[in-house]
Amino acid sequence: MAGVFDIEINDQDDDGRAEDAIDVDADEEFLSASSSSGIEMAEGFESVPLSEALVNPSTERIGPEHFQLLKVLGKGGYGKVFQVRKIAGAHLNRIFAMKVLKKASIVRNQKDTAHTKAERNILEAVKHPFIVDLIYAFQTGGKLYLILEYLSGGELFMHLEREGIFLEDTASFYLSEIVLALEHLHKQGIIYRDLKPENIMLDAQGHVVLTDFGLCKESVEEGDMTHTFCGTIEYMAPEILTRTGHAKAVDWWSLGALMFDMLVGAPPFTTDNRKKTIEKILKGKLVLPPYLTPEAKDLIRKVCL
Ligand code: ADP
Repeated sequence: MAGVFDIEINDQDDDGRAEDAIDVDADEEFLSASSSSGIEMAEGFESVPLSEALVNPSTERIGPEHFQLLKVLGKGGYGKVFQVRKIAGAHLNRIFAMKVLKKASIVRNQKDTAHTKAERNILEAVKHPFIVDLIYAFQTGGKLYLILEYLSGGELFMHLEREGIFLEDTASFYLSEIVLALEHLHKQGIIYRDLKPENIMLDAQGHVVLTDFGLCKESVEEGDMTHTFCGTIEYMAPEILTRTGHAKAVDWWSLGALMFDMLVGAPPFTTDNRKKTIEKILKGKLVLPPYLTPEAKDLIRKVCL
């Protein structure tokens, strides 16, 4: 079979020559393990593991042989993201992003979902113009591969870095789109929890797209930081850091921290040391520069304090 990727996805040898070797045993082991996700859950919450059956259109059996690996797009807190091309069946030659994880599930608060929806509708329910589309999923070798809409506009914060800061009008535009995406998830009983610059991308038209939809993820690396905080913590709400609560408000806190970053050029609570950064976030002493408009200051104060 031509042009398939190495199932082990070894770092740099992404030349797309390797054999596909689907390990059926590992696959089944994965499927049975994923029904009881290792994620702790509060009462009233349900966890729906992502699986082939949940994601894929019923007519096409999807596997690694359908995709050619093109390049590494980025490394997330939980695994790598690759650019791939579909080389068989529907969507022939279309470019996608492929995220590799150990497992992932959608956790939702049943009480918040307007109508109790059947599991298979959960992906329909999270669909939104400003949230990345999950097109296919497959499991093999104990890993979960998510095939996502490819976002060609780059990370929003690459643009911010280039410009230093955004004018308030520009920030309003991006923040409004993020607010719409978060509101949509909250209406489905889903908390995003991990809003940060790396998770905000732009599509080809320059609209915001969140690269995730509040997935509870498990890292592909053994013994990794599933229950600690990997990556950026600067945008996390105090109650996440102290593990004392996970209500919707955590997303609004992160939005305030992002807004600050966009208007000031750095997040509100930051040091060169993680421990000190956590202390600063917990103290929550916000210093707002004088050049912000009263409206901007007011909004940041209301969500980040
Ligand atoms: P994780 O959820 O594991 O933290 P991310 O979603 O943050 O991973 O993805 C890591 C990086 O991969 C992003 O910062 C981005 O550069 C790239 N990336 C993620 N999803 C896409 C996508 N759909 N299209 C293009 N690039 C993407």
